[in-house]
Amino acid sequence: MEKIKVWQGDITTLEAEAIVNAANHSLLGGGGVDGAIHRAAGPQLKEECKTLNGAETGEAKLTKGYQLPADYVIHTVGPVYKDGNKGEPEQLAACYRNSLKVAADHEIKTIAFPAISTGIYQYPALEAAQIAVKTINESLNSYPTIEQVILVAFDAHTKQRYETELAAIKANNKYHS
Ligand code: ADP
Repeated sequence: MEKIKVWQGDITTLEAEAIVNAANHSLLGGGGVDGAIHRAAGPQLKEECKTLNGAETGEAKLTKGYQLPADYVIHTVGPVYKDGNKGEPEQLAACYRNSLKVAADHEIKTIAFPAISTGIYQYPALEAAQIAVKTINESLNSYPTIEQVILVAFDAHTKQRYETELAAIKANNKYHS
């Protein structure tokens, strides 16, 4: 089985054990993928999120998935992109690393990520795809219990960018498995 897989579609329909939410600091819901996840999970998700007391940029916190096909949601807060010199790359990488750590800590074996920060938070799509693929690939060395990571692309361009980055890593013999 490929450790890192690309899939195009709506993350709320995925049957991965955990899906990651590109949340905001409040963790109480918002627009984009965050709104879609809260709508699909139902109001109990927000009730549990209220107990988490928000999150810092780069942090990741776990809830149940409620009415989602996924058992869990891992809420992480991506950076709002300013000019790339305000720590955004490190913060975006932290989102992927910390989400994978939370998954491993809870013995979650399959986890799906949306393209964190690339919507309302305006992270440039190519750089975000490079950071996502590189960080996930490197982090998997630390979390051998994670069997599969799914990169969810909402559109065909994002899918193409992920596939190009994965191919580059494989060509350099740096691919995890
Ligand atoms: P952020 O505030 O972190 O930028 P957004 O939700 O605005 O978060 O966008 C993050 C990414 O999620 C974008 O690439 C957007 O196209 C994508 N997206 C939006 N809705 C969904 C969905 N239902 N499933 C998967 N990806 C989605």
